[in-house]
Amino acid sequence: MNLTIALTQPQENCIIDISAPTFFFSATETLQCTPKNFEHIQNALAQKKLLKIPGLIDPHVHFRTPGQEHKENWESASLAAIRGGYTTVFDMPNTIPTTITLERLHAKKALIDAQLKKIKIPLHYGLYLGASREHFDQIALCKNDIIGIKVFMGSSTGELLMDDLESLDQLFAIASKLDLLVAVHAESEAMIKQRKELLKDQHDYCIHSKIRTPEVAATAVKQAIDLARQHKTRLYILHVSSIPELELIKAAKQEGLEVFAETCPHYLFLTTKDYAHLQGCAQMNPALRDPVHQQALWQGLQDGTIDTIGSDHAPHTLAEKHEVFGCCPSGVPGIETTFPLLFTAHKQGRLSLEKLLDLTHYNPKKLLRLPSTKDFVVIDTDTQRTVDNANLATKARWSPYAGMDLYGWPVLMHFSH
Ligand SMILES: [Zn+2]
Repeated sequence: MNLTIALTQPQENCIIDISAPTFFFSATETLQCTPKNFEHIQNALAQKKLLKIPGLIDPHVHFRTPGQEHKENWESASLAAIRGGYTTVFDMPNTIPTTITLERLHAKKALIDAQLKKIKIPLHYGLYLGASREHFDQIALCKNDIIGIKVFMGSSTGELLMDDLESLDQLFAIASKLDLLVAVHAESEAMIKQRKELLKDQHDYCIHSKIRTPEVAATAVKQAIDLARQHKTRLYILHVSSIPELELIKAAKQEGLEVFAETCPHYLFLTTKDYAHLQGCAQMNPALRDPVHQQALWQGLQDGTIDTIGSDHAPHTLAEKHEVFGCCPSGVPGIETTFPLLFTAHKQGRLSLEKLLDLTHYNPKKLLRLPSTKDFVVIDTDTQRTVDNANLATKARWSPYAGMDLYGWPVLMHFSH
């Protein structure tokens, strides 16, 4: 059975075979298209201005399975992902237990597959292996089951940390030999510790940005780039947030190194000014920056210094985020709002549609060497909707962007057979 919808693009009509999984989204509901609700969906989409784009790829999520499923699991997160326009996600290894061995990798996959089957969402996904100095032997064993290796050069959520040069050096050598991508959380652990001690008597959430400064990030970025140069390792620098990081990455690219960079919506749409109203909900790693860095990030999107936008969807419950500074965990949910935020920026003339799709589909596809699919998403380009916590699918049920009026909400997603 085919659903026909009219697009505003030159291709006019889009004929969708709903025998393959096809989902419809309104502000409050998600429906799988069936012959029964066919008419309801067709009516809901009539008169809307619709744009068809390829299924989005999120290179950086924390869906919290296993071990922290009170925050999120793959049932809630997959719904959040498709409602955000994402057909493909790559999950990080800082779970409980950490994903650092082939055995744990297989166990995690089995849990995820069972949850996806239960909710009947054929989300494409891949997993990163966590770098652990005691488990370097596992890397070769896991090679064909992972998208890359994630290294926490500075500590964040969870136990993973590898901050000594000797281990990092070994890891970059192994990854290069195996042609594996190394994805880094680049913050200097030594500097974080030092600054924490220095600022230990201050208790406002905004102190987070004074502990984890741009220099803390840039110091680790420089170390990672030096190792990538030395070992010819493919390097992916996650959540770039500041000017000194951008400068190092730009220089590395000019030098011809295989260095790629991601930024996240929170660095593009929030700054240190937002602590005032978000309090603990503005705490994430790396920390929010002053507006001058945000301007540079937008420039970095334009000039190609930044390759991808990852949501770094890192949910915690509101109760956890309301804990006092020092106890409040770092991270914000984001996969449902990333595309509408960016599309709204596009509408405002800040980002071309071509650039937007490079950042959220074509570049991550190239970087992660993904096969082509015919999956697509249909976006409502003209209806403005307010981000409302009550309508979010993430188990966390809050967003730092609540109350913002955004365009570009996905209304339909099609997974090809
Ligand atoms: Zn992350």
